[in-house]
Amino acid sequence: MRGLVRKWALKNAVDHGGKALDGPVISGAIGEDPGLRHRLKELRAVVSEVVSEVNLLTLEEQRRMLMQLAPELLERRRAEEKALSPLPGAETGRVVTRLPPEPSGFMHMGHGMSGLLNYLYARMYEGKLWLRFEDTDPRKVSEEYYLSFKRGYRWLGIEWDYEKSNSDDMEIYYDKARELIRGGFAYTCTCPVDEVRRRRRERAPCRHRGTTPDVVLDDWEGMVSGDFQEGQVTLRLKGNMESENTVMRDPTLFRVVHHPHPYAGEKYTAWPTYDLAAAVEDAICGVTHVLRSSEFALRDELQECIRGLLHLENPVIIEYSRFNFKGTPLSKRRLRPLVEAGLVSGWDDPRMATIDGVERRGIVPEAIREFTVTQTGITQATRVYHWDLLFAVNRKILDPVTRRYYFVPEPVPCVVADAPRVAATLRNHPDRDLGTRIIHTHGRFFLPREDVLRLTPGGMVRLKGLYNIRVEDISGEMVKARFQGEQLLPDVPIVQWVTERKLDAAVEVLEDLFVDDEFNKNSLRKVTGFAEEACSDIEVGAIVQLERFGFCRLDRCEDGHPVFIFTHR
Ligand SMILES: [Zn+2]
Repeated sequence: MRGLVRKWALKNAVDHGGKALDGPVISGAIGEDPGLRHRLKELRAVVSEVVSEVNLLTLEEQRRMLMQLAPELLERRRAEEKALSPLPGAETGRVVTRLPPEPSGFMHMGHGMSGLLNYLYARMYEGKLWLRFEDTDPRKVSEEYYLSFKRGYRWLGIEWDYEKSNSDDMEIYYDKARELIRGGFAYTCTCPVDEVRRRRRERAPCRHRGTTPDVVLDDWEGMVSGDFQEGQVTLRLKGNMESENTVMRDPTLFRVVHHPHPYAGEKYTAWPTYDLAAAVEDAICGVTHVLRSSEFALRDELQECIRGLLHLENPVIIEYSRFNFKGTPLSKRRLRPLVEAGLVSGWDDPRMATIDGVERRGIVPEAIREFTVTQTGITQATRVYHWDLLFAVNRKILDPVTRRYYFVPEPVPCVVADAPRVAATLRNHPDRDLGTRIIHTHGRFFLPREDVLRLTPGGMVRLKGLYNIRVEDISGEMVKARFQGEQLLPDVPIVQWVTERKLDAAVEVLEDLFVDDEFNKNSLRKVTGFAEEACSDIEVGAIVQLERFGFCRLDRCEDGHPVFIFTHR
C-alpha cells in the first residue's frame, strides 16, 4: 500500500507545484486499487504520513522519483496536454477556468467531459480551477446533486483549487443590483408573465421601463425583504427590446422565490437568474477562460453586457460543440420519466450516460479522459459521439489489466468418455502475469448452447486450455464425446467450458436506451449461465473478462450468485 500511496502523492505534488494534498492522493490510490475502499482508515493514516514526507522534497526530487516509480503518470500528463489545442490568449501561470455545475440533477458524461477540458487546460497552463455551483434556483437544486458532482469530478481525477456556491454570494449580487438600479440600467416590473412574454415577442417595452431609479430602488428593497409574493415582481435589465437576440430583450435579473434553499435556507427571497450570477461570478473569481458548449452561445452577449455595466472584466469565451451520445440522451427531461416509471433501475442505471451509470457499466475514468482529449477538443462542429469509440479506448485500457474467467451462457451438459483426471492450470491473462488458477476436471462439463448448436457427431473440438474431444452423440439436452489427446491441432474449434463445480451467474447485456427517439424496451437482456467457481472471489465493482463473451463488471451478488453488467466485447 505504501508504494502505491507514494506514487500518487508524488504525482499530486508534481501536478501542484510540489505540495500534495491528502484527498486527491486517497482518490488516486483507490482509483488504482478499489479494494482499498474497505481499508479507508488504514489508508488515511498511510497517506497522511507519506504526504508529509513527499512535501519535504523539492519539486525536482519529486519529479525524478515519480519518473523512476511511475513514468506512465508523467507521460500520461504530457500525452494529454499534447492532444489539446492551445487556448487563445492563454499565458502560463495566469489561466483560471471553472467547473460550473448546476446541482439540479445527477452528473452526466457531458458535465464530465466539459469538466475535464476545463481541468486539463488549467493544468496545462499551470493555472487554477474553480468548482462553482450555479445554485441560485432554490426550487431546482438539491444536496444530493452537489454531492453527485463532487464525487463524479473526483472519480474522473479532476482536482480543483477553489470551491464555492453562487448562493454564498447573495449579498454581492444585491450590491450589484443596487449599482445597476442607481445607474438607471434596471427596473422592477410587475407585468404578468404572459404579458412580459408577449411584449418580448412583439419587441414592445412595458410601462415600467421608465420608472425612476428611486422608485425602483424602493421596490427592490421590498423584494429583498420579502414583501412580495412569487410572480408579483421581477428586476429586469434595460437591455434592447429591438435586439435580434431574444435573450437581450430586457431579461430578468432577479425574481422572487419563497422556497428553502439546501444551504441558504429561507434567508433570501430575491434570487438572481443564472445570467446575472454567472456574469458576476466569472469576474470576481478572476476566470480568464470560459469553455462552454454551444447551447449557451446566446447568453454571452447578455453576460458581457452585465459585466460592462458593472465595470467588470470579460473572460475569453471558447465554445465547443455540445456532447451528444448516440441512443443516449443526456437531458433530465428525457431521463426522469424513465426513472420515475421504473423503466430503469435508477439514475445509476448502466444504460444511462450519468457518471454513476457509466461507472457501473465498467467504463474507467482513464478512458473518459483519453476519449475527451482525443475526440473532443475545441470544435464548434456539432458531433454525435458513438459509444463504440469510447468502448474502444476503454478496452485498450482494460485489456492488459483484467483477469480472465470462464463463463458458459445457456449451458448444455457434456460427458467425455476416457477423460483423464486433469488439474488444469489456467492463466488469468494470456500474456501478462496476473496469476493462475487450477481447475480439477474429470470428464463432466457444461458447454455454451451456442457452441453446441454448431457441433456435429464425429466432429472434433477443443475444450479451451484443456484437451480435444470428438463428439459422438448430441441428443436431447446432452453432448456425449470421447477424449482425443491434449496436443494442439490446427483448425479445431475451441469452446468455453465449466465443470460441475460452478456458480449460477447472470450477465445483464445492454443496448441503446432509445431507438428512433422511443424508449427501447429491449435495452436490457439478461443472459444466464454457469461461471467457474473462482468467480466467487471477484469483488463487487471489479471488471473482468469473461472469455469469449466480453468485459463485464461485477455489479452485485443475488443469493450468492454473481450478476455482471456487460461492459463491451
Ligand atoms: Zn412591466
